[in-house]
Amino acid sequence: MLQLDMMIDGQAVKGTGTIDVINPATGSPFAAVQRATVDQVNEAVQSAKNAFASWSQTSDSERQTACNKLAAAIEANMPELMELVTKESGKPMGGLNGVGAGMEVGGSMAWTQFTAGLELPVDVIQDDDNARVEVHRKPLGVVASITPWNWPLLIAIWHVVPAIRTGNTVVIKPSPFTPVATTRFVELAQEVLPPGVLNLVNGEGDVGGALTTHPDIAKIVFTGSTATGRKIMESASASLKRLTLELGGNDAGIVLPDVDVKEVAPKIFGACFHNNGQTCAALKRLYVHESQYEEMCSELAKMAQQVKVGDGLAEDTELGPIQNEAQLNIVTSLAESARADGGRFLTGGKRMDREGYFFEPTIVADLTDGSRLVDEEPFGPIVPVIKYSDVDEVIARANANERGLGGSVWSSDTNKAIEFAQKLECGSAWVNQHGTIQPNAPFGGVKQSGVGVEFGTYGLEEYTSIQTLNIAK
Ligand code: NAD
Repeated sequence: MLQLDMMIDGQAVKGTGTIDVINPATGSPFAAVQRATVDQVNEAVQSAKNAFASWSQTSDSERQTACNKLAAAIEANMPELMELVTKESGKPMGGLNGVGAGMEVGGSMAWTQFTAGLELPVDVIQDDDNARVEVHRKPLGVVASITPWNWPLLIAIWHVVPAIRTGNTVVIKPSPFTPVATTRFVELAQEVLPPGVLNLVNGEGDVGGALTTHPDIAKIVFTGSTATGRKIMESASASLKRLTLELGGNDAGIVLPDVDVKEVAPKIFGACFHNNGQTCAALKRLYVHESQYEEMCSELAKMAQQVKVGDGLAEDTELGPIQNEAQLNIVTSLAESARADGGRFLTGGKRMDREGYFFEPTIVADLTDGSRLVDEEPFGPIVPVIKYSDVDEVIARANANERGLGGSVWSSDTNKAIEFAQKLECGSAWVNQHGTIQPNAPFGGVKQSGVGVEFGTYGLEEYTSIQTLNIAK
């Protein structure tokens, strides 16, 4: 079994016992990582604090060079990282519409390169006979990064790279379900970064709690569930830590009654089911006009029956397993409650009869708002298709949810779709697509889907504080 150490102050360290990492395609462990003690969390924070003194003083170009070297290290180790991502997360190497481990590792490289090239120049807002007023961006200090299990490496990169690009140092704690590729990346990063700039501890919520309550943490960047996000916000309050929270979503997709159903259905299917529905901004509630409802339902059901589900290491697999047993149980319980609510199962609806945490791709018709499957985030391969008759009313229904990560409107009239998309209460509104993200465009949630944004200069700014320099003349 693959054994990986933690990383503190540039040294590989053992903890107190190990955490087995299960391959969800088999249900058996394939790797083990070390579990940190609270003392080790403190050591990691101290190491990052020490390293901050010099890392924060490096020039922009030194940090750009370091980030570009990190991108090169990811590229040079791409096959190994892809295999680790597939084994720990279950996502296929290739995947439905190319959404798989190749995209995760390729995206990690692309985001690192792009972020390396970003600049936050000094903003001169006044320069006259009275004064020169400059706005500078300063690094914050030690950043704590806590990541989830669905896109483990890519999300780690989204946290770590902007932090170190802007002169901060980092302690990362990956999800105990998927710590392997991140631990390997942190090992590779030690060849590029001075000791202490990037530290890694492994563990569960208690280790996460020890890290996020530590008084020397200046900022927490957290991606995960809304429930944990609330706890983290609480732990940040004691020393007023800066926060970026990327939390759960329950994205609505609204199909206007003028679409060519056969043309949009495959795109909608991909938006719902890529990574087996385990993406924060997957399409999770589909609203279809009554005039096209049955046609859309039957197209989606056909695709759900045909999509190839299996072990992600097999070349032709499009959808893998659910990442862990607890999540499989959540999906199973939502399916049961949908059945009790009178949902019409067009296909799927149960765990697959094979090893691993597989659940049949499932499409449920005839549910409406108020049903758990519609109101809650399933984070798995099950999608409710909801009938509507009035377009204005459906926008209000889409917005009547505490989450606000993304949403989409589908129409053959782009201008009409744009008008409706702008009425959606969410951080990303998509037109005739859903879930597209890119390194230069800010991404984040509104309402209970999060605080702050990631990506591009908007995201980079969140790793800095402003210092206004006011020089009298
Ligand atoms: P989770 O909240 O259970 O765990 C996330 C991380 O928090 C893990 O590393 C966990 O060990 C740690 N943690 C748990 N309790 C903690 C505590 N008290 N203090 C500090 N850390 C603690 O989430 P998950 O199940 O791993 O991920 C799935 C969720 O993540 C879904 O809701 C999904 O929508 C969300 N997500 C959001 C985005 C986004 O960008 N908005 C992206 C991916 C996933």
